[in-house]
Amino acid sequence: MPIAAFLAFLFLVSTAAAADKPTMPDAMWSSDSSHWQRVPNVADAPAGGVTLGEQGLFRQSMDKHTKYLLTDANVDDMVLRFREVAGVKNPPGKLCGWEKMFPAHAAQFLIGAGNTLRWGENAELRQRMSRVIDALKACRTADGLLIAPAGAGEEGYSFMLLAHGLDAAARAGNPDAYELLAAWAKWYHQRVEKETATDSLARALAGQNYFAATGLMLAHFAPGGTPADVLDAYKHVYPPWMRQLSDRNLDGIWRTCRGHAHSAYCYGWIGFLDIYRATGDRRLLDAMLGGWELYHDHWLHPGGTLAICEGDLAYPPDSFFITPQAHTGETCSMTWWAKFNEKLHLLYPSEEKYVADLEKVIYNVALANQVGQSISYHTHVEGRKDRAGIEHTCCEVSGTYLYSTLPEYIYSIAQDGLYVNLFEPSSIAWNSGGRACTLTMASRFPYRSEVSLRLTVAGPTPLKLRLRVPGWAMADMPIRINGQQAALGKPGSYVLLDRTWQTGDSVTFTLPIGFRTVRYEGADQIPGHRRYAILYGPVLMAAVASLDDKNKVDLPDFAFLDSQKKADATSVKQLKKWTHLVRIAHDPAAPKDWLMPRPEQPLTFTVAGQTEPYLKPFWQVDTEGYTCYPVIEGR
Ligand SMILES: [Zn+2]
Repeated sequence: MPIAAFLAFLFLVSTAAAADKPTMPDAMWSSDSSHWQRVPNVADAPAGGVTLGEQGLFRQSMDKHTKYLLTDANVDDMVLRFREVAGVKNPPGKLCGWEKMFPAHAAQFLIGAGNTLRWGENAELRQRMSRVIDALKACRTADGLLIAPAGAGEEGYSFMLLAHGLDAAARAGNPDAYELLAAWAKWYHQRVEKETATDSLARALAGQNYFAATGLMLAHFAPGGTPADVLDAYKHVYPPWMRQLSDRNLDGIWRTCRGHAHSAYCYGWIGFLDIYRATGDRRLLDAMLGGWELYHDHWLHPGGTLAICEGDLAYPPDSFFITPQAHTGETCSMTWWAKFNEKLHLLYPSEEKYVADLEKVIYNVALANQVGQSISYHTHVEGRKDRAGIEHTCCEVSGTYLYSTLPEYIYSIAQDGLYVNLFEPSSIAWNSGGRACTLTMASRFPYRSEVSLRLTVAGPTPLKLRLRVPGWAMADMPIRINGQQAALGKPGSYVLLDRTWQTGDSVTFTLPIGFRTVRYEGADQIPGHRRYAILYGPVLMAAVASLDDKNKVDLPDFAFLDSQKKADATSVKQLKKWTHLVRIAHDPAAPKDWLMPRPEQPLTFTVAGQTEPYLKPFWQVDTEGYTCYPVIEGR
């Protein structure tokens, strides 16, 4: 980012910020590997072995995503940019969408195919995945490097995504993918050598090359990984930024990095957490816990999207913009926020809050953004949903990761048992202390609240089953084993069921799910009215209504910098904002009293005495207009 734009930004948001503008340190944090101590996860995500139920939402979502993935999956197109760089003559391909700027088409396909194949076979995905890997192998240099196609100077982005793709292909059983991941990392090591260590923090973050830390750490934890992967990942860790996050300094989120002041930090933060796992460097853990807290407390909508985005708007803490002009809830950012929460969950599996945030991304972003044939870019909480083409945008490429890993989040495996995190119909086969175990979950969540688990074990098996009682539960949750009450779960915790299990043992419970309204306190308030989000458990409800000039309300303008003239510090503009007043004339504290279920349409409700709006899960909205923040007030 040009320095003039940075200065203009400081001028715009605060004069105080200029004083503590962080700079890159002369020396990076850690280079002495003799003190490194790996930190094991307390629980692991299943690598495979999870089967989704036919009736479930995850299954429908994955099947739809597989179709999407195969729509634009010409192998020659995917590897064209790599062949150009390597000088490999081959059938011509064509460049699709973002491939011209930020090459990630091959990465997307490998991420999607490899991860999907972890949960079940698909001959078409398998065959094309192998062809992509073979084509990339042929692009390696004589010294064994796989070199990235030239992009727009944000190689960290392409590097991180293809590393995920190669890791996924390897995990799906491709015999050459790990070797290729090492070749890919080898190229990036050379690239890091050429980076200047004198960049200001703002410039370094604006370039987004810190995303590469995630790719380097994937290479490190793969067979063939080396300490050099960690050392180079460290070079993308900026101590002043880490200190801001550890100190819970809000500037670390919204003022550090102009131009990409941003929801996308987790692209790199998941790599920073991996550096902690590889080295035991507490400073990184403290920074990441701080980053989580700052996002969670000051930028997270109740529906689970981050109310901050890149670009030229300022997103002050607690601003929670609703208006679609603020384009919050970017799908790629939400994917890596979900992954970041998964990583924290695996380190601290008894803390329910990480799964709670992950769950909201699944229901209110992943399921909600499979609009038409593609994947939406932004998750607007008001207006109409983004309708995207197939362009291999950052959001499509990253979104693919989330759709193809959906089975991974339902259960986590501990050495002494299993965590049950989500309530999606499914089964898991895993090994506990050398014994084969299977757990099957029958559920119609979120349409129905009854859940039943059944175990199959090879003889009596001692096992700790830890069952999530969601933070959104409206009451304590009684849990029955073989019909007898065995425990009472508190909302926001995991209940431990520690016993010796036999085949046929069952665990049953009814999730205390219900409606909650959450008062809106952000910047897009409508004077004289009170707005609320409505949630059913983790599910964000949309108030579907005709949005037209009659209910359009102007909001205070806000200042931003014209992106076309970033270099010109004088080009401060005002952005016009508006919203829509959609009114429910009832008591916000008692939604149960005025929501009338529509027969034949589960989870869809009319409002007593009104023709509009009606309510349905946000994920089900297609072309209709809606707001997730209706005004709710008595007559
Ligand atoms: Zn994106």
